[in-house]
Amino acid sequence: MLASRLALWRGHVLVVACAAPRCRGARRVPVDTLAQRWGELTVSEVLDHLRCRTCGASPGGVMLRRLVAGSRPSRADLVLHLLGPGATRRR
Ligand SMILES: [Zn+2]
Repeated sequence: MLASRLALWRGHVLVVACAAPRCRGARRVPVDTLAQRWGELTVSEVLDHLRCRTCGASPGGVMLRRLVAGSRPSRADLVLHLLGPGATRRR
């Protein structure tokens, strides 16, 4: 999955958690937005580009969620842990 092109995951959202202990920022980034710039990169390569918008640190955890059409944004029917504890890839 990490070797697939980001553009294949349109309609999903990345939940990015900051690694910096003093920040702990978390934000949701629509794949559609990232794909405008990085759609031809693999998911793994895009993870290397992600930085915290608040402090600029690398993410400590990244989840991919698929949003269910018509539901609230907090409801997702798929969660993939891409980075961090229990994830496919470890830093
Ligand atoms: Zn941060």
